[in-house]
Parts: sequence; C-alpha cells; structure tokens
Amino acid sequence: MSQKQTLSFQAEVAQLLHLVTHSLYSNKEIFLRELVSNASDACDKLRFEALNNNALYEDSPNLEVRVGFDKQARTLTITDNGIGLSQQEAIDNLGTIAKSGTREFVNRLSGDQKADAQLIGQFGVGFYSGFIVADKISVESRRAGLPPEEGVRWTSTGAGDFEVEAITRPERGTSVTLHLREDAADYLSTWKLKSIIAKYSDHISLPIVMRKEEWKEGEDNKGGEMVLTDEWETVNQASALWSRPKKDIAPEQYQEFYKQISHDHEAPLAWAHNRVEGSTEYVQLLYIPAHAPFDLWNREKAAGVKLYVKRVFIMDEAEALLPSYLRFVKGVIDSADLPLNVSRELLQESRDVKAIREGSTKRVLGMLEDLAKAEQEEGASDEDKGKYAKFYAEFGAVLKEGMGEDLGNRERLAKLLRFASTTSDTTSVSLAGYKARMKEGQEAIYYITGDTLAAAKNSPQLEVFRKKGIEVLLMTDRVDEWALNYLEEFDGTPMQSVAKGAVQLDKLLDEGEKKAAEEAAEIFKPVLEKLKEALKDKAQDVRVTTRLVDSPACLVVTDSGMSMQLARMLKQAGQKAPEVKPVLEINASHPLVKKLDGSEHFDDLAHILFDQALLAEGGLPEDPAAYVKRVNALLV
Ligand code: ADP
Repeated sequence: MSQKQTLSFQAEVAQLLHLVTHSLYSNKEIFLRELVSNASDACDKLRFEALNNNALYEDSPNLEVRVGFDKQARTLTITDNGIGLSQQEAIDNLGTIAKSGTREFVNRLSGDQKADAQLIGQFGVGFYSGFIVADKISVESRRAGLPPEEGVRWTSTGAGDFEVEAITRPERGTSVTLHLREDAADYLSTWKLKSIIAKYSDHISLPIVMRKEEWKEGEDNKGGEMVLTDEWETVNQASALWSRPKKDIAPEQYQEFYKQISHDHEAPLAWAHNRVEGSTEYVQLLYIPAHAPFDLWNREKAAGVKLYVKRVFIMDEAEALLPSYLRFVKGVIDSADLPLNVSRELLQESRDVKAIREGSTKRVLGMLEDLAKAEQEEGASDEDKGKYAKFYAEFGAVLKEGMGEDLGNRERLAKLLRFASTTSDTTSVSLAGYKARMKEGQEAIYYITGDTLAAAKNSPQLEVFRKKGIEVLLMTDRVDEWALNYLEEFDGTPMQSVAKGAVQLDKLLDEGEKKAAEEAAEIFKPVLEKLKEALKDKAQDVRVTTRLVDSPACLVVTDSGMSMQLARMLKQAGQKAPEVKPVLEINASHPLVKKLDGSEHFDDLAHILFDQALLAEGGLPEDPAAYVKRVNALLV
C-alpha cells in the first residue's frame, strides 16, 4: 500500500452504521464491552498462533488491554497487544460483516428504528458499536510477525466509506481511538469506565488496565480534582470466569458471560459449573439457552462449546465435546490434560475427550432432569415451573435425535420426552405420566404418528381408543417415528403404534362386544374374500377390526413395517422409500360396509373404501381422477 485509499463499506455495514449513528440508544455503554471483547479475542488469537511460533510475542509477552482517555481531545482509546491487523485484514475485517452474531443481527433488523435500536443494545454489533458514541474512529494496527513499516491506519466517520493508509508502528497489536460525540463526553471518566468494565468485562481472562487516578489539591487549598498518573492498574478480575470458585461468582456474572459467548440476548434457562477430577481433569461451564438459534437444524455447523486447554483458547464449536443431539448447549470446557496443539482430528480420537464428552453429556442430562423436576415441585416459582416446557418447545425435537444417537443414555432420555396426547393438546405428557393413567387391562403405551396434530387426532384408528377412554400419544415431529424405532418399551411397558399391526384390544372389550364382533366377522367372511380379490393390487390383506367405531375402514401396516407417513416423508425428501402395501381393516358394522354385500357396484365401493381410508390418514389415492369418477358415479 503506497498511499491513502478511500474504500466503501459493504452494503450491510453501511446499513448497520446508518442505524448505529441515527438511533437513540437506551444502552450506549455496550460499545466498550464489544471493543474490549475484540481486543481480548485478538490476544487469544496471538496466543494460539504463538503456540507454533513463539517469536510472535516479540518483546511483549504479557498480553493485556489498555483503556485510556484524553479529556482535552475528547478521545477514548482501547489498545491491545494481540494479533493485530495487516493492511489487507483491516480492509476486509473492518469493512464487511464477518461474524455470525453480527450477521444474525442484521438479518433480524425490522426497519422499525425503535425496535432495531433496542436489538442493538442487546446484541452489540462488534466493532461498529463504536459509532454509537463516536463520530470518528481511527484504528492503528500492526500484525504480529510483520515489520513495523507494514502497520496500517484505518479511519472513518461511519458514513459510506473509510480510509486506509500505511503507517510505521513499532508496537504489535491494535489501538482503537474513538473521537467521542459531544453528548458522550461522560465516558471520559475513570469511575464511569471502571464501572462499565466491572459490569461487562470482569470475566475476561486478560488484565484490563487503566491509569491510576490521584487526588490533586487545587491552588491555595481551593477545591481539587482527580488527575491521571503514569501508573497503570488492573481494573478487572483478570481470571477466566470458569476458573474461579463457584461461590465467588454471582448469577449475573454467569449470565453476562453466557451472553458474550453465545451472542444471545436472553438469559439462559440453566447452567452448570464444575471442576471434574477423575481420569482426566477439566472444568465445565455449560448453559442451556432459552431459545433456539437460527441454525439449530444445521447438524454440521452448530456446536456451542468452546475448548480451552489450561485457559488458553483452542477452538470454537468443538463438536467432539458433546454429542450432536446436545448441540444447543453453549459453554466452555477447559482441559488440564490435552496438549495445547490439539487439532480437531486429534480430538476425535482422544481418550481424554471421550471422558469429557461422557461427563458433559451426563451433566447436561442432569440439568434437564432438574428443570423437568421443577415442573412438579410445590415450592417452585412459576418461572421455574415453566422452564422445562420452554426448553422442550425449542429443543425437544433435537433432544429426540439422542434416542438413536446415544444408546447408553436412552433410558434417561426417554424420561425427558414429552408428547401431546388425546387428553392433552400441549406437548406435556411424559411416558411416566401416561403409564400412571393406563386403564385396567391396558398392556401397551399407544401412540399414533401424523403430519399434523389435527390429522393425528382425527385419525379413524383412534376411534375405539376414544370410546374406551384410552389415552393415545399424538406424535407430529418429523423425528418421532425414527426416534420411536429405538424405544421398544418404557419401564417394562411396550410401545405400540395404533397404526401398526392388529391391535390387541381383547382385554378391553366386554363380553357382549366380543361376541358381537365375532358374529359380525363370521357373517362378513364371504364379502371379505371378495374384497381381498378386488383390492389385491392395493392391499396386502383385508381383515375385520374392532378398532373402528364411526369409520368404515382404515389402513394399517404390519408391525415391523415402516409407517405410510414416514414412507411419504422420505419420498417427498427425494429419498428411496420401500413400497408400503398396507392392510385394509374393515368395520363390519358400518352401514356403508353392509351395503357391499350383493351390491352391483361392489368393485367401485371396494376401491372407494380403500382410497377414503388413505385420504383419512393424510395420503392421496394412487389415481385421484379414478377415485373422483367412482364417487361421482355413485352420487348420481
Ligand atoms: P467480530 O464479531 O467478528 O469481532 P467485529 O465487527 O467486532 O466482528 O470485528 C470484525 C473483525 O475485525 C474481527 O473478526 C477481527 O478479525 C477484526 N478485529 C476487530 N477488532 C480487532 C482487534 N482489536 N485486533 C485484531 N483484529 C480485530
């Protein structure tokens, strides 16, 4: 870079800056949190790169963040001796939006200034937050390892463009100078800055230092004032939050730390902080968020746990530390035993990591069990009582993936599952709760899967269950059927789909009902044979059932078969699904079925019965036009 260049901001940045500079903020002070956090990240990055290249420390191995101000010039400067920026990095990183947190913020902008300004206070938007209080920002930096002449100065007033030029900068790292607006002059105060740092940045593991202040008497003992000295003092705790004893950490500090690592503005539902000492030693600080991130369904990306080794940051999103079905968990694991140069590949094979993963999984399940327990607890506050339901609404479907993924914890997971049922529209029925309500003579936990709650609830297959007052779980999550494959029984009671196999309802029918059913089946036999013949291409079998009350017929699959719905879902997703040939079950006492006997339209009626049964459970007749034709012929 030979001379000054003027460059434009990426469109999203310009949009963001417009909002930042034109809105009123309730929470201006967050700019400091953002800049200190960037400085701290830059030091983490240096430490990490220096693992393989110690020379990067140059002559200043003690990493720190300096916060200084100049009242006369009305400037506030945040300086770090971290990794620094090269000239190109300054252009790329301070002219575009890099981080997912900031990008998510931009995606959420509504266009309503007031609402958006509130969002900013909660989220923070990284470096650009500086323009909340400054009408000009200048950044001077040199990347570790580059010669002093390859320093860079970046300046902008936060309008459409910024300037960059080469400078000579002996010190490594970055210094961000905010030229404060007139109405932001109150940040030029040690007391004010210290209190903001204590509020947001206390947990940062680096020392944040400021010049010490001293009282200076005025001339002739007339008044006096605080003046800055040349001595620097550390103004934060400067130890990683998770490395401190639990008893010294206030709930607010845990929450603030969560917000910083997760870019979530809402407080977490729960957290667990433990030092684990066993075959491997580590500290875990794990959080359960209150709501799902936008990329929860991306199984590849989302892993929320950061890995540290002896308090040195190693990597974000370390997916080896928790199973994928717990990818919503955020937090930090700090291992005392892993090598500092550990790579993602090494993590997969490490025995220490395996132990950490098992220990952390148990811890998360424990937290969830505690939340679930609070639902029932007498003395619990309404807020605590509602936490598990809140969690489940956001993450229940992800948790279910664990049924197939984590065989070792299947029983614990099964207890955490919740479903809607024929007696509860909300997803609040636990398997244990269901069991406690089972009827005398009921031998299984019954469930039905469906595309929607309404479809599941109104399925003809439920008729006899309703009549007998037997509860049936309604499952409408896409993963339900798959997850249920892994759960054959719960606490000794088999799980039985009401849409699979012949339901064993004998014990639930009274003598009169049984007798009537047998008689009807006997009389119906000849018709049944004719039906089988007429539908031999569509139905694997036709049989008489006692499960129907108001409907003439329904479709079921064999016990081991895939449900029709899952087959449909796979097909829609473009995947290969086995051809499912269902069994048609007939309600022999239904008037329409009675009509079959001797009817001249036998064939049409048979096909209509089949196609209607298919429609009733959410499917489509193979030949819809033929179906319509047959129905119309009869209507006429
Ligand atoms: P992020 O959320 O990624 O930190 P920012 O807008 O705050 O987003 O910063 C953009 C990028 O600028 C950072 O990812 C980093 O690469 C760079 N950056 C910001 N501050 C510093 C700093 N003090 N030292 C080195 N690089 C920095």
